[in-house]
Amino acid sequence: MTTLLDGKGLSQKIQQELKTNIETLKSEKGRPPGLAVLMVGEDPASSAYVRNKERACTRVGISSFGRHFPTEITQDELIKAIHQLNHDERVDGILVQLPLPEHLDGVALLHEIDPNKDVDGLHPLNLGHLVREEPGLRSCTPAGVMKLLKHYNIPLLGQHSVIVGRSILVGKPLSLMFEEQNSTVVVTHSYTRDLGSLTKEADILVVAAGQPDLITADMVKPEAVVIDVGINRVTNPETGKGRLVGDVDFPNVQDKTSYITPVPGGVGPMTVAMLLRNTVLRYQGEFME
Ligand code: NAD
Repeated sequence: MTTLLDGKGLSQKIQQELKTNIETLKSEKGRPPGLAVLMVGEDPASSAYVRNKERACTRVGISSFGRHFPTEITQDELIKAIHQLNHDERVDGILVQLPLPEHLDGVALLHEIDPNKDVDGLHPLNLGHLVREEPGLRSCTPAGVMKLLKHYNIPLLGQHSVIVGRSILVGKPLSLMFEEQNSTVVVTHSYTRDLGSLTKEADILVVAAGQPDLITADMVKPEAVVIDVGINRVTNPETGKGRLVGDVDFPNVQDKTSYITPVPGGVGPMTVAMLLRNTVLRYQGEFME
């Protein structure tokens, strides 16, 4: 029997808890929590993500201080905007929506965010805390995967895990979180030879590559736990209609697994929940353990 890991449902539950928390804390603090999402240009996928995040903020009672800049904005202007938000006491969290237009240096910008407001957990100081297993701000997508596994009581201790993708946003921090929970982790990437021979050994398989149907049924161990982080827009050639799919050939893989995340409705909503959670943690002056 396969169980679908309902990220959407869990995300709603977390958001409801955050909303209740905020209602209690607001009078004590004299203000609501604040999040600033910075977006540059008109990338449709990024616009949709930003809208989603701002709607979620409104739902739980977090004030949005987001700014939308034209594509032509310079690095210096953006740095100035980040510094202003660093000093704005109404703002608990700052996030730069990636990817940025070519002429901007995203990594350099991430260094400018006050690490105490770095709710995306991508500042070197927070990544360093993760490596050292110290409290800090943890990246939202990997933190969302961990929360989902914990909610369904899926143990990591001693389990053989394979993570497909080694980005700083997903694969790399997640591999550290898995190790922290005493899983044996293999991280694969686009230079990995014979990917299937590795994924077939995984008790827990996480896929974050950005390639539809990368993982087929023959690459999955029977009864494995499969976490599909990928979000890809594909168009049906017959109808011309677009839809979102993950990196896993879900219809053929599903029945082979013990647990699997759907796309959409799996990891995506958990990312948003963890962003809100990080913002509220900073509002309370706390960090993720
Ligand atoms: P990225 O492009 O930065 O990294 C992709 C990684 O996958 C790289 O390390 C690359 O080496 C590896 N890879 C690519 N092709 C491979 C192959 N054939 N075999 C093995 N490894 C391969 O992407 P990212 O930012 O990490 O995002 C990955 C996917 O996850 C994308 O689809 C993205 O949209 C999605 N994503 C989802 C969420 C969410 O909330 N669900 C959040 C972030 C990213």
